[in-house]
Amino acid sequence: MSDTQDNLAEGEGISAPEPLAPIDLREAIAALDRVGPTTTLQFARLALRTVGDLLKHIPIRYETEAAEACATEVREATETSQDAVTRSVRGEIQKVRHVPGRRPRLEAVLADESGTVRLVWFNATWLAKSIHPGARGIAQGRAKVRAGYLEMTNPKWTPLLDEASPLVHAGRLRPIYSATEELSSLRIERVIALVLPRAIASVVDLVRGELLAQRGLVGLAEAYRMVHAPGDALEAERGRTRLAYDELLMLQLAMEMRRYQVRHAMRAPELPVSKTIEKKILARLPFTLTEEQLRVCHEIAGDLAGSLPMNRLLQGDVGSGKTAVAVYAMLDAVAHGAQAVMLAPTEILAEQHLAVITKLLEKSHVRIAGLTGGMRVADRAVVLSGLASGDFDLAVGTHALLGEDVVFKNLAVAIIDEQHRFGVEQRATLRTKGPTKDQVPHTLVMTATPIPRTLALSFFGDLDISSLRGLLPGRTAATTRVMRSSRSDEVYTWLRSRIERGEQAFVVVPAIDESQRGLKDVASHALALAENQLRGLRIGQLHGRMKQGESEAVMEAFRRNEIDVLVATVVIEVGVDVANATVMVIEHAEQFGLAQLHQLRGRVGRGGKQGYCVLIGDPTTDVAQARLDAIANSTDGFEIAELDLTLRGPGEFFGARQSGLPPLRIADFSRDIQLLIGAREDAQTWIGSTGDLTDVRDRPLRRKVLSLYGQALGLSDIG
Ligand code: ADP
Ligand code: MG
Repeated sequence: MSDTQDNLAEGEGISAPEPLAPIDLREAIAALDRVGPTTTLQFARLALRTVGDLLKHIPIRYETEAAEACATEVREATETSQDAVTRSVRGEIQKVRHVPGRRPRLEAVLADESGTVRLVWFNATWLAKSIHPGARGIAQGRAKVRAGYLEMTNPKWTPLLDEASPLVHAGRLRPIYSATEELSSLRIERVIALVLPRAIASVVDLVRGELLAQRGLVGLAEAYRMVHAPGDALEAERGRTRLAYDELLMLQLAMEMRRYQVRHAMRAPELPVSKTIEKKILARLPFTLTEEQLRVCHEIAGDLAGSLPMNRLLQGDVGSGKTAVAVYAMLDAVAHGAQAVMLAPTEILAEQHLAVITKLLEKSHVRIAGLTGGMRVADRAVVLSGLASGDFDLAVGTHALLGEDVVFKNLAVAIIDEQHRFGVEQRATLRTKGPTKDQVPHTLVMTATPIPRTLALSFFGDLDISSLRGLLPGRTAATTRVMRSSRSDEVYTWLRSRIERGEQAFVVVPAIDESQRGLKDVASHALALAENQLRGLRIGQLHGRMKQGESEAVMEAFRRNEIDVLVATVVIEVGVDVANATVMVIEHAEQFGLAQLHQLRGRVGRGGKQGYCVLIGDPTTDVAQARLDAIANSTDGFEIAELDLTLRGPGEFFGARQSGLPPLRIADFSRDIQLLIGAREDAQTWIGSTGDLTDVRDRPLRRKVLSLYGQALGLSDIG
């Protein structure tokens, strides 16, 4: 009956029931006492269906709840403390007022011997019957002094039927849960409190006691108790730490299992290191590789020589020379009579790689095929048969190359450009394309978004990492400035002067069309510039929703300097390479991620001329301002990536979602780095001593790891 009503009868249900039999974690919430069908539905909307789900629904934060006090004490405490503390006052309602309007509110004055508190409820008509002059009760909520009045907004109201009812217990930490409008944190708290003792009695800890003792971690059941019903802040944190450790440990065990399985079950073609071959490859390239590039090439050549599949990540800023390294690896395969592929995330990029590599190898006997989704059927057929017969040595293309009908004669090396656009699943598909049933190709994944160490360890823990640091000889980083939008006239006047010197420019906007209100879009901005500041200049447009042929034509025209200014979305973020482009203006710069801004500006000044990047933005918060300043003041992509991660969190950055793995729910990269390193060590030791968790004692753990990550990581469940 009161199933949907919130603040009524709050006093019930919090006290712990006497120890009862453990409750199965798979038990449905619907089957719990005091949970009716409406509540069940409301829980289901939060994806909470079982007792186990409830246990895992850990608080997002805690609020300090002060012990009951009189109105004057609360007033004093409120005036001196800025903290979010919930106060409790007991008294009698004196006046009640209903204020109609769009958000109708109910106002009441609560008085005790010392003074008064104004209580305000929004949209709480159902409360009206219990709030009337003379009603006695306890109001609990955050108190504020507003216009001289002590006030609580939407306080919890507990009617006092019996004057002797006990004081609100001494101060405590109240868990705050992620909730919905219809199912408040408070109701969630009550249901969880109700089942907690019986639920944690069923919790099985899969981590051995010795290990926990070594790391100073509490048992799993205790950890759940600590997060849901902490005695103090320290306990809440200890509980959280243990749960975060579990999460990280499961992920690391999965990574280690994968590494183990790759080592034990998968073989790759061996391409022995040969000085003669290296000489030939280096002679092909139109420039001398830097020491940095050579060092990485040798790391790769070392991997290719072995029968263990290479699984390497190559990270380096835009323009750090990764493509040359990739070509080295591919030519190594070809020199050994095998095939290689390069996968790019977009058609534009695939075309560009194809053009660059074809040019590089034009005087060689290497036969190169391009394959993209937009190809004509007949052309596609030619490529497919050539790859199957071995008539083509190299293939460059998009994920179309991963299609089931694409068969290689002898694929030894696969390069994936821009990792974060390709997930773990694509890597798994690639593994099916090896030369024989038991052989998989060596893979090299390239990314221009350097991966912060925490992410590298967690989501790419199964990869070896090579980094190309620093700029190529003769390169300088783009000079970056931040400007307010009120000064954009100046910016475009200056841009015009660069065009008049024969240079070209990019103007990046956040939106493709007008659907995103308040943000500049490609078409409108191009038009506005053409009619105003950039009148008379040749302005082109580029965005991700154009047809393939169209966007190619635009890029080609820009490359041939038939377009002065290209107004575009972030499609140009990855890899578009035009030597004569020296200026980039980014509108609404605060809309973009730091790593993305850094990538974008790497597109200018690539032809030996100084590049300039102007970030136009009106940051409204200190953090937003700090981000723009940071990008203007740093040229080191690795540093920027770390900062981006700290400011935005891993979900936003990339990682979980884009890597194809489930996201971490509890662990937090800005504070759990030591825990992560610990979990990684433990996983390595564990897998090192027991193989891929085949020890009988580890069976439940193995099942858990496989259920979490088995599919995403392509783990097999043999043995
Ligand atoms: P990335 O893929 O890391 O963005 P690229 O491999 O495309 O960088 O290199 C950027 C540009 O520098 C290309 O035009 C490439 O031909 C050139 N380049 C690469 N390595 C060298 C080198 N060692 N010396 C001179 N130019 C180089
Ligand atoms: Mg590149």
